[in-house]
Amino acid sequence: RAKRDGRNGFHLFSPSADDAAIARLKLENDMRRAIPNGEFVLHYQPVVEAGTHRISSVEALVRWDRGEEGLVRPDLFIPVAEESGLIVPLGEQLLEQACRQLQRWRGTALEGVRIAVNASTVQLREKEFAAKLANLLERYDVSGHQLELEITESTLMTDSERMLGMLEQIKALGLGISIDDFGTGYSSLSYLKRFPVDTVKVDRSFVRDMEEDSSDRELIRAILAMSRSLELKVIAEGVETEGQASILAEMGCPYLQGYLFAKPSDPASLLTFANSHSRPDSANWVI
Ligand code: C2E
Ligand code: MG
Ligand code: MG
Ligand code: MG
Repeated sequence: RAKRDGRNGFHLFSPSADDAAIARLKLENDMRRAIPNGEFVLHYQPVVEAGTHRISSVEALVRWDRGEEGLVRPDLFIPVAEESGLIVPLGEQLLEQACRQLQRWRGTALEGVRIAVNASTVQLREKEFAAKLANLLERYDVSGHQLELEITESTLMTDSERMLGMLEQIKALGLGISIDDFGTGYSSLSYLKRFPVDTVKVDRSFVRDMEEDSSDRELIRAILAMSRSLELKVIAEGVETEGQASILAEMGCPYLQGYLFAKPSDPASLLTFANSHSRPDSANWVI
């Protein structure tokens, strides 16, 4: 209303589309400075084997360390980073952090654990992406097999032909490819067959209600059956209760991830966690 009246004074007192645009611009400018300033850090959340609860890999999740204001979760800034293109330099920096982390884990309980990094469509549409990745692996003396990329179904479906080419280049470097939030998009079986995909991650929304909702259980069962015939690895995301974990294990879901096992944490805490969960004879072995 205030906006249509067109008086500047009104804008100061009523939130309008302009205010949202200004806030967004400020966020973008803050990010632009925060990237070279090293304010974006990776936290890591374990993925565990369903049977043993042993760590099989970890997922890297970005946080913006805004000092006094604390850690900002990605949902608040990734969309702006994607729209502004800042996800390209940010994503490169995060991949570099992951490579450095793999190097640092040598000789620790986390040696050999793979890191899965989330990647946006915008990054994968960059012609140079695979070449930059190859360069990073070389510089940090990291094997491509130690990394996975998590992409979504919608990434497969944008400009599929070119995306297929890009993913094949990435596979050739040894990286694994996972489909994140699986079941929420519209990709078909033929997509999973045609693209070099290794893993599907069952979306948290199906896991959340699976104890009460039999249709969610059936959907998960269907994903597991399909994945067996396509020889894909399956990870269930967002496992929060013992009940969910035991039903998933009974159904034959091989890998689990969620707060029940561990929240995303900084590298030091992750190492502490790994030290107490790496030996089968450890007292607090099964959580
Ligand atoms: P995602 O890749 O599907 O990551 C899973 C999200 O679920 C994470 O939120 C994680 O903290 C949260 N989560 C894990 N276990 C549980 C659980 O048991 N219960 C509940 N309620 N939540 C759980 P987060 O870290 O806030 O990340 C949100 C999204 O932001 C990610 O979803 C991913 O799409 C995006 N994202 C995170 N890091 C990056 C990144 O480095 N690059 C890009 N492009 N996107 C990222
Ligand atoms: Mg993910
Ligand atoms: Mg997910
Ligand atoms: Mg998600």
